[in-house]
Amino acid sequence: MKRIDFTPILTLVTAILIAWPVVGVSDDKKNDKDNKKEKEQYRLTLNVEGVECAKCAQVMTSTLEAAQLKPTGTIKPDSTGPSRILATCPTECDLGAVAAKVSQADTPHREKVPPSLSLILFTKLDEKSASTALATCRKIEGVDGTACQVDSKTGEIQLKISGKEKVTVAQILTAFKDAGIEAHTKSTTGRVETKAGS
Ligand SMILES: [Zn+2]
Repeated sequence: MKRIDFTPILTLVTAILIAWPVVGVSDDKKNDKDNKKEKEQYRLTLNVEGVECAKCAQVMTSTLEAAQLKPTGTIKPDSTGPSRILATCPTECDLGAVAAKVSQADTPHREKVPPSLSLILFTKLDEKSASTALATCRKIEGVDGTACQVDSKTGEIQLKISGKEKVTVAQILTAFKDAGIEAHTKSTTGRVETKAGS
C-alpha cells in the first residue's frame, strides 16, 4: 500500500496556525463587517426637477453633495423636464432629509420650477403589478403619493420624495417587496461597496 505523504498538509496547517493570530480572529472579523456596513452605499438613479441652467446645476450639485448624496457625473440642465442623475449615498441615508434640502436649494430658476427630488426604481411590470406598484408608491410615508409614476413598459417607478418625513431606500424597497414587487435601484446588485477599512 502506498504511503500518504502528510507533509504538505502539515505545512499548510502550520502556516494557517501561524497566520491565524496575525489575520485576526472573530472580533476583528466582526469589526470588519461593521466597517463594511458603514461604508456600503447605494447607487441611485434620480430625477431632479428644477435644473434649468448651468447655474441651477451648480447649486443643485453642491446641495446634493452637502446632503451626502453624491452625483457620479455632472448634472445636465434640462428646461423641458427633470434632469436624470446617478448618485451614491450611504445605505442608511435619509432621502427625506436630502429632498428637504433640495426643495430649499437656492437655484436661480426656483420660482419658475421649484426643485424636487424623485427616486427611480426598476422592475418588471405587467398591467396588474403596475397598478400594485402605483398603489404601493402612494402608501409609502415620505413619498408624495400624488406624484407617483409607474411605467409598465419601461418598468420604471418614479417616487417623488416629499421631504417631510424620513424615508430610506431600504424602507422603500421593503414596501415594494411586501407588495410582491422586486424593485431595484439602478444596478441589479443595487450596491456599490467600498473595500472594508484598512
Ligand atoms: Zn437656472
